[in-house]
Amino acid sequence: MIADKVKTILAQIPSRIEVVAATKKRTTKEVLEAVDAGIGLLGENYVQEAEKKITAINRKVSWHLIGHLQKNKVKKAVRIFDMIETLDSCELARLIDIECCKIDKIMPVLIEVNASGEYQKSGIGAADLEVLVADVRGLTNIKLMGLMTMGPLSAGSQQLRECFGGTKELFDKIGSLYGGKLDWRYLSMGMSADYRIAIEQGANIIRLGTVIFGQMRA
Ligand SMILES: *Cc1c(COP(=O)(O)O)cnc(C)c1O
Repeated sequence: MIADKVKTILAQIPSRIEVVAATKKRTTKEVLEAVDAGIGLLGENYVQEAEKKITAINRKVSWHLIGHLQKNKVKKAVRIFDMIETLDSCELARLIDIECCKIDKIMPVLIEVNASGEYQKSGIGAADLEVLVADVRGLTNIKLMGLMTMGPLSAGSQQLRECFGGTKELFDKIGSLYGGKLDWRYLSMGMSADYRIAIEQGANIIRLGTVIFGQMRA
């Protein structure tokens, strides 16, 4: 079942778009089934959950942190993740940088943008984005590579289009401001309910849970 869904989705989606399977609350067995069907990128919301799954799965896959990162989890997070998609403050950036320095690692990072304003609480507001980029750019052990956003839940397609389109504009603006000075290339937006609209608006990473693993069990 999971394997069929993965194969169908991977066949539908253009190969320039990376598919992150969102593993929160899924079992190791479920995640392994997705990996064996061709998923090479896994996204986890919780640091401790990721740690358990990484040990249990033990395959050549990459792990992205896609949930909010608490300060007291930074040390662990930089050791186990290959990318952090949810940077949303200067303070957090500094902590990531310090912990990465200690283990001599350069961490690929996306900034999470709150593109739908009042509808969500995570992510940095558009008005503060440029300041954060300027700040993070000076940190030696963070490699800033793009933006991530969450579409507003239960929004209509027009509202989703505006939210994702607005994030693409911010993405392009930073890209043109910093030109070749950043390896600026990833725009992570779109989940099971809205990934088609996100792709249409320029996403090149999508994060899928339900369409791969089925509805979450209560
Ligand atoms: C859960 C989650 C997803 C996947 O959500 P689905 O609607 O199940 O596809 C994607 N991104 C983030 C940040 C998530 O927390």
